[in-house]
Amino acid sequence: MNGPVILDDLESQVRYYCRQTPNVFATACGARVWDTEGNEFTDFLSGCGSLNLGHNHPAIKAAVIRYLEADGIGNALDFHTAAKSRFMRRFRDCILAPRGLPHLLQFTGPTGANCVEAAIKLARKHTGRRSVVAFTNAFHGMSMGALALTGSRKARRGLEASLDGVVRLPFEGYRGASMEELDRFAEMASDPSGGIDPVAAIIVETVQGEGGLNVASEPWLRKLRKVASELEALLIIDDIQAGCGRTGRFFSFERSGIVPDLVCLSKSISGAGLPMAMLLVAPQYDSWLPGEHNGTFRGNSLAFVAAAEAVDQFCDESFVAGISIRSAMLERWLREMAGRHPDEIARAKGLGMMAGLEFRDPARAQTATENARARGLLLEACGPDDKVIKIFAPLNIELDLFADGLDRLREAIEMACPAKVGVKAA
Ligand SMILES: *Cc1c(COP(=O)(O)O)cnc(C)c1O
Repeated sequence: MNGPVILDDLESQVRYYCRQTPNVFATACGARVWDTEGNEFTDFLSGCGSLNLGHNHPAIKAAVIRYLEADGIGNALDFHTAAKSRFMRRFRDCILAPRGLPHLLQFTGPTGANCVEAAIKLARKHTGRRSVVAFTNAFHGMSMGALALTGSRKARRGLEASLDGVVRLPFEGYRGASMEELDRFAEMASDPSGGIDPVAAIIVETVQGEGGLNVASEPWLRKLRKVASELEALLIIDDIQAGCGRTGRFFSFERSGIVPDLVCLSKSISGAGLPMAMLLVAPQYDSWLPGEHNGTFRGNSLAFVAAAEAVDQFCDESFVAGISIRSAMLERWLREMAGRHPDEIARAKGLGMMAGLEFRDPARAQTATENARARGLLLEACGPDDKVIKIFAPLNIELDLFADGLDRLREAIEMACPAKVGVKAA
């Protein structure tokens, strides 16, 4: 079969992952993926966090098959459907109610970027203000508005018309930034001579997924909440990647106790890699007119069916405990690796099952990543210069498969690092 060549001939230059791993994938189960030649891969990428429950989760798969066989309605715009109503009740009962969150659900177009656009539009509409605060190394998506909020210049390159009013602040830890920068900003923004136009919203990822696994501390997040409230700006948590259990609890901000005004969810909300996005809106900010942010695929019933099962997992204490077990295992492994190669690895980073290793030299990170791919791991590097190897296994990966994958990654990294014995390479 000469599949890959034909695919490359037909597909735009924009293709990306298939350049790094040119295999033609065919089947997948849990954290295992097979190509058409029968080669097996261990998934340390999880569709960039869109497959937190692994591939073809049995409960989700069964529900989706049942729905199709019963001739369940497919796309239903935003009509009421049995599938949507079941999901909404589950989401209320398993996620919102136990956390005391009063938020309403807005189904946006089924991508993260569209959800971010909706959040920004709503914040601007509600406040009648324009400025939106976003952070260094932020990633919020590839549509024009979402891209304008993204930090990376490389990502923003295609953006000829930029969104006016983006104010960039340093994320916690960026060149030593701490809470002081937030205080200073709050002072400037509330000073009529401070030169900052009134702020509509502050948007932040509590753990920066694409930006290098930078983790905001709980005090910093609480300070950010306070600053947003003082400025009467909406606090938007972009939980598209860090949410849905990735950091250990359903929402990434739960650890800090803050209540955001808007929360963006997408990637793993359907649990099956089916497109779906949802904006959580604190009721007092729900100032949309009917149909004001619409979109054809807001009623993807199959995604609702899958999502109802996915959300159910978070009512299961053993599933949630399983994330902690795997997170602890990963953290031990990361600390050991960073301790063993201090000359090459700058630090272990991340939170929960959203973690990795930052290399000092991007070339070494790249070699290690390529070695890992050659050992049957699907994974990627992130952050400025792709210096951070990102480990993004499904949250329910079998423990022995996880350990085996980490062993292979250790070998891949050790092959990329000079030997520790004897004289160090110059
Ligand atoms: C992936 C991602 C987005 C964009 O989602 P798309 O579905 O690719 O549009 C936005 N924010 C964060 C934090 C993401 O990780």
